[in-house]
Amino acid sequence: MNLVLSIAMVYANEMISHIGFVVRSGLCVWPDMRQLCIRKGLVYGFMRLLSTPLKTLRGASRSLRVTEFCSVSNMSSSLQIELVPCLRDNYAYLLHDEDTGTVGVVDPSEAVPVIDALSRKNRNLTYILNTHHHHDHTGGNVELKARYGAKVIGSGIDKDRIPGIDIVLNDGDKWMFAGHEVHVIETPGHTRGHISFYFPGSGAIFTGDTLFSLSCGKLFEGTPEQMLSSLQRIMSLPDDTNIYCGHEYTLSNSKFALSIEPKNEALQAYSAHVAYLRNKGLPTIPTTLKMEKASNPFLRTSSSEIRQALDIPATATEAEALGVIRRAKDNF
Ligand SMILES: [Zn+2]
Repeated sequence: MNLVLSIAMVYANEMISHIGFVVRSGLCVWPDMRQLCIRKGLVYGFMRLLSTPLKTLRGASRSLRVTEFCSVSNMSSSLQIELVPCLRDNYAYLLHDEDTGTVGVVDPSEAVPVIDALSRKNRNLTYILNTHHHHDHTGGNVELKARYGAKVIGSGIDKDRIPGIDIVLNDGDKWMFAGHEVHVIETPGHTRGHISFYFPGSGAIFTGDTLFSLSCGKLFEGTPEQMLSSLQRIMSLPDDTNIYCGHEYTLSNSKFALSIEPKNEALQAYSAHVAYLRNKGLPTIPTTLKMEKASNPFLRTSSSEIRQALDIPATATEAEALGVIRRAKDNF
């Protein structure tokens, strides 16, 4: 940590306010594009820039304005996670087990950016993990399966809606990805068959369209009660869990969150950091559970400031409050 702080001191004063985020978020990029990965106060990863020209990331990078990424290598579990921008604002994630070379992808909304990312490192694809059936999370399934022979994994509830599904998982199942235990957590609300993939050994969860940074998914097939329950299950994980969600929505989410809880200092600071990252073309993902608990209005249904802003009575349940917050967000 001393090393980190001493490095940070050489940067302009404006950067000092971001040091806290280095420690809390587990991911930070410095203004001169050197990067540090830190987790639980320990430097445990390596940082590098993708040397690939932006244009190979196709349209996704232009709208996302993501110019480079941080590949996180957790040496204790040797699982690398790489962001792959897809479509306009989606993220797929490549999982790479360094020991065996096994590769998986979470929610490939389209095949080409995933193929490009795999080709750059001359890697094969063994597994496709889907959090839910929506096309912007499964659109690449069939092409990737045909090209690599990868197995498609998804919820049993959505076995008729996930293209190419091979392996059906259900709530509470523990599945192994190249020696990494994966806990399947049912998280309905956005869709009835939505699941999240939790990697306890890596302190990472893939939440699809259930939990975003500073928001949650729209309630297409579920109730506020279901979404609240799903979010509470995610909230029961350790605070330093890294959250990998399906979309880069954080900047617009921050504007809504600030509109209903403007005095929340953690939210103010995080929103400023998010604006800084997006202005630099950098991803805001992963976020951490600790950060979300402090600033995400959908995890803060008890906040008196939020309740006053939206005229939610103090007697309203958390699920009722979540429903009101969701409707306000839908109309924001
Ligand atoms: Zn969705």
